[in-house]
Amino acid sequence: MADGFRLGVTVPELDVDIEYDHVPITDQSFENALERAKNKERLSVADGIELITTGTEKPGIDPERKAQVIDIANQRRAEIVGDEVTFVANLNNNITTVCDAGCLFCNFSTPSCEYRNADNPAGYTRTPAESRELVDTALDRGISEVTVASGLHPSLALDGEHKEILRNTDELVRYEPPKSYPDDPGTYTEQIDAISFDGLHVHGITPEEATHASRGTDWEYVDVYRRLADAGLDSVPGTAAEILVDEVRDVICSNKVSADDWMHAMEAAATAGLETTATILYGHIENAAHRVLHLQKIRRLQERTGSIREFIPLSFVHHNTPLYEQGYLSEGATPAEDELMVAVSRLFLDNIDHIQASWVKHGDGRSLNLLTCGADDYMGTLLSEEITKRAGGDHGEYRTFKDYVDMITSIGRIPVERSTDYRTRRRIDPDDPPFGPTIGPRADGSPIL
Ligand code: SF4
Repeated sequence: MADGFRLGVTVPELDVDIEYDHVPITDQSFENALERAKNKERLSVADGIELITTGTEKPGIDPERKAQVIDIANQRRAEIVGDEVTFVANLNNNITTVCDAGCLFCNFSTPSCEYRNADNPAGYTRTPAESRELVDTALDRGISEVTVASGLHPSLALDGEHKEILRNTDELVRYEPPKSYPDDPGTYTEQIDAISFDGLHVHGITPEEATHASRGTDWEYVDVYRRLADAGLDSVPGTAAEILVDEVRDVICSNKVSADDWMHAMEAAATAGLETTATILYGHIENAAHRVLHLQKIRRLQERTGSIREFIPLSFVHHNTPLYEQGYLSEGATPAEDELMVAVSRLFLDNIDHIQASWVKHGDGRSLNLLTCGADDYMGTLLSEEITKRAGGDHGEYRTFKDYVDMITSIGRIPVERSTDYRTRRRIDPDDPPFGPTIGPRADGSPIL
């Protein structure tokens, strides 16, 4: 039985037995849902569930029906964004691995007590000066974007004022002064300020980090994002969304913000004038109903904000994670489920233009295939990738512009370097090597590596 049909979770060795309220049972038929998709009608949750499961009347994915769904999604992609496949020259700067949230899908984090006490801790923390040096070097290689997403280090505060509040609060908040640790991450605003080079786009601070950056205060999310924007933040990644249904979040990330709070934070980011992305982490313990309910929340959020540039389906990489090690699951999503996730995202999210395929999660061959299932964006060069690698992903840490040109042209599409906000785009002529970035503040067209 494919994971999308799951009605609950049973883990005998932990004596865990959960039945879901949201299950993939509908009064719609696959044929009707497909017809509605063909006619470009706005899909209901029931339509989405029928399409993503290729029909709920029987378990398993039907290959012919899957091909029909993908065909419509691929056509829709061509109508909306044409044959261009975009990517961005970027760097991931994960400031610190130190985090005590204990999400069961994560193998990126280092518990703070382990980090504090070990002679050779498995994790790391970058000071603002170290972040600046890393980004400075990457700028010389031509990046136009730096993405910042990190663990919830107990010393990290929004800024000096927040640090002072945390130092003096009697409330039970996760704060420890930097002197408790071998290295000082500074504050969020110091980190953003340190990497905010003129013309470089700073994409960072998830709703979870914004919550951490306001713990122990009554500050609104919008005030937090305004202060971060003043420090140099340009846009906000819609990660930490996982699955926006609390009965799943309560199991996989019980210490994280609720689905509603994630939505509030994203709306606040938009109110503060910051554009955003949105994600889904699928292929773990959720079912097809959860996946489509998540899409419905993202579509509503976009209706309210108009701030979401792209949607990024993230297929769960399970090997080194507690969910796998504790027996919640034995595998991630199948390739067929990945294809349907992308295709239904394209069809359901009729108010978001760009859907991303991830070579970090799927590798080159499978991610290229996803570009024919409705996706049109091929993420970024990255230059450094820690989160998926630590979870057992083995698809590398960067791609050169030549890699991109070769891969994208191999499926008959057009490679396009883009800025984070998609407003600056440059078609790359595959007959005119060498290939290098031109959009970043120091980019001169030289090959990136
Ligand atoms: S996903 Fe993020 S918040 Fe959760 S444990 Fe990992 S680093 Fe911490």
